[in-house]
Amino acid sequence: MAATARTLNTTGSTSVVLDAIRAAGTISRVGIAQVTGLTGATVSTVVRKLLDAHLVIEIGRAESTGGKPRVLLELNPTARYAVGVHLDHGAITYAVTNLAGAPVARLARPGPGNASPADVVIRMADEINMLVESIGIARDKLLGLGLVSPGPLSSRAGMHLTPPFMRSWEDFPLDTQLADVAQLPVLLENDATAAAIGEYWSGGTQREESFAALYLGTGLGAGIVINGTAYRGTSGNAGEIGHTCANIDGPECWCGARGCFEALAGPAAVVNEAYSDPRIVTAAALDTLGDHTPITQRFAAIARASRMGDTPSRQLLERSARYVGVAAQSVANLLDVRMLVLTGSSFAAASHIYVPAIRDTLAASFFARDNHAVHVQLSQSAETAPAIGAAALVLQAQFVPERSTSLAAKVRSSPHVSELSTLSP
Ligand SMILES: [Zn+2]
Repeated sequence: MAATARTLNTTGSTSVVLDAIRAAGTISRVGIAQVTGLTGATVSTVVRKLLDAHLVIEIGRAESTGGKPRVLLELNPTARYAVGVHLDHGAITYAVTNLAGAPVARLARPGPGNASPADVVIRMADEINMLVESIGIARDKLLGLGLVSPGPLSSRAGMHLTPPFMRSWEDFPLDTQLADVAQLPVLLENDATAAAIGEYWSGGTQREESFAALYLGTGLGAGIVINGTAYRGTSGNAGEIGHTCANIDGPECWCGARGCFEALAGPAAVVNEAYSDPRIVTAAALDTLGDHTPITQRFAAIARASRMGDTPSRQLLERSARYVGVAAQSVANLLDVRMLVLTGSSFAAASHIYVPAIRDTLAASFFARDNHAVHVQLSQSAETAPAIGAAALVLQAQFVPERSTSLAAKVRSSPHVSELSTLSP
């Protein structure tokens, strides 16, 4: 019955065939029929359309085992592109990936600062155009734009940014505004989840189907991938490990709760504490930074001082890392994963402290440690993973529609949203 339904639904079978080719790398028509359950006739029809649309290319023939040699198919990586944008207080990072998910261009620009959201949206659209033009990609080859930002997300009000550094963005309908100005369909995602998707698509997880990405940027969060699919929860806010409680009598957090990991040990807490220690202020040259310097850059200055041998800076980071290690242990205990990827600019800056601290905590205290280890590794693209993941979201929505129901629900009712179907020939 399923195969019958698929043969009747051209768009659905197109996505299924495309995803089979993407997953295999190189595959024959017979191979596609075997892995998808579609009939040979349907596969031939769909592949013909994909060849005509230049989305797929024939790359030669497989060794014959007696019968007729089989023609092998591959995605045409330059047929389409996706744009990813990571909006954070400290920086706006852009990535363009090809149809296979490989990054072909990246750009990091200053964060929004105190500029009005409407002005920042215009700037973002300009910077996207500039980046796309700089690598000579025609606009009609762009599938869409994935946009990530710190949570929490609200599916009713679009972007709903409430971290204290970005209060002016609260209730600003960022995704619909950006879709209108950039003239591209926009998908919205939480930064930690996008980072996890970016790791999965870029092969950083060594094909581990279930894992968590711990994200330390301005805040602390976790992205969860289960059986190759991002787990988003009811409203796209799953994985907020930074806002679970480490001390019920601890300080009040910006989220309204008390004693959150982020309030006790996140980059903002580290930076605040650093300013109360004149030795760290001097060693990290914090007094030379301007008033509008983002938390991530102040945190990176402390990490640099620690790398240069400053003991108070190292001790401050080590204290934070003990908490983050326990947060990582909580994620691992909850999900029972074999792999944790550490990503985000703050992990990248202070990896010398956080990576060993998290490894030690998991080795000593992970609940199922006698059964299996949890591998902890720093992302190879810790600073750009959310932007790459944002672009991958757009690709994933094309390839795997059955996995993207919650994504589709997040596509805002914009006149450009219909363009998301342009991949279907
Ligand atoms: Zn909190």
